[in-house]
Amino acid sequence: MRYSALKGVHDILPPEVFTWQAIESTAREVFSRYGYQEIRTPVIEQTAIFERGIGETTDIVEKEMYTFPDRAGRSVTLRPEGTASVVRAYVENHLHRLPPPQKYFYSGPMFRYERPQKGRFRQFYQIGVEAFGLTAPEMDAEMISMVRVFIGMLGLSDLSFELNSIGCEICRPSFTQALVGFFSGKLTELCPDCRKRYEVNPLRILDCKVDRCTEMRHGSPKVSDFLCGECTRHFGDVLSRLDALHIPYVINTNLVRGLDYYTRTTFEVTCERLGSQKAVVAGGRYNRLVEEFGGPPTPAIGLAVGMERLAALMREDAWTASPSPDFFIAALGGRAIEEGLIIAEKLRARGLRIEAAYDGSSLKSQLRRADRLAARYALLIGDDELGSGRVKWRNLRDGSQGEAELGGLDGFVSSLFSDAGE
Ligand SMILES: [Zn+2]
Ligand SMILES: [Zn+2]
Repeated sequence: MRYSALKGVHDILPPEVFTWQAIESTAREVFSRYGYQEIRTPVIEQTAIFERGIGETTDIVEKEMYTFPDRAGRSVTLRPEGTASVVRAYVENHLHRLPPPQKYFYSGPMFRYERPQKGRFRQFYQIGVEAFGLTAPEMDAEMISMVRVFIGMLGLSDLSFELNSIGCEICRPSFTQALVGFFSGKLTELCPDCRKRYEVNPLRILDCKVDRCTEMRHGSPKVSDFLCGECTRHFGDVLSRLDALHIPYVINTNLVRGLDYYTRTTFEVTCERLGSQKAVVAGGRYNRLVEEFGGPPTPAIGLAVGMERLAALMREDAWTASPSPDFFIAALGGRAIEEGLIIAEKLRARGLRIEAAYDGSSLKSQLRRADRLAARYALLIGDDELGSGRVKWRNLRDGSQGEAELGGLDGFVSSLFSDAGE
């Protein structure tokens, strides 16, 4: 019997995993500068949370969720995105009683039963942030600036920021009405999904990736012509804050996002190098979702970063680096191997990275392995040297070498690393 990973899921192995760690640690560093604290929610929730939070007529809820009855017959779902769970936790734990804004970030696996293709997986990873409690346009601008700093620190620069406002519950109905009017004569030309969207959520026709639907959208009503005074002012303020921060952006009036509860600002960060699945970051305002979950009216804004796509961009940029050992312990002989184990533990306790060969292979092959690992120093331990209470050392970068007293190894190691200026 041969076992393999499920279709559409993937292992993240070294050295690729170092890229992932770099993304995660950079996110922690940057997000904490902006006052975001980590929140960890379960990967499994009641199905109703996602039906409510994402919208029952969305592709995710209709076709892509890992939903199944648990052993007691309750419908449960592996989370397909992060926001619904965070909002559920925010309301359930009364976090709205804390002074606004409350800012949280999360990271972890999400699950969608999609057709696997380049850039799409069934278990995929997202880092996301959610900020609750403020409608101020500065919040929108700050979040977009934060993600720009984050991406910049990862060494990526060829990304573009796309923005739109999709209005609010007051002004959106008239825009939806105009869309319905525009598409009513073209229904037979639209894809089957869009014909359904036309009935339940016409806004999402703007989001369709099918070529024919893209063509049919030419000349469709623009949301900017329908925004109410408040929404127009909010969007204008967001843009002027971005200008003040010297953040370049493009306005994309088709940017509606696939989820139902977005209000006002929507945005994406895209990279042409990724081909058709080019969004690396997607986000927006969802001023009504907390209320939908039974909380008090609470404006909110969030975004999610697709880790696979970000890691793919960084791989092309060859950003990967793996930590190399400080010492490689090469031991020859039974007693020497045992002594090597003890020395390795002592050095690790000092915070050093130690690799060792316990396989009794030749000195030459052990040193070859030390080279491959790019170790800085080798300690050469043989039964003969042990008899005289000494070990040999070699600097694998410059070839210098010498001997050290086994009893004085601590002081010797300290001197090596202070000499190296570290
Ligand atoms: Zn409005
Ligand atoms: Zn379509």
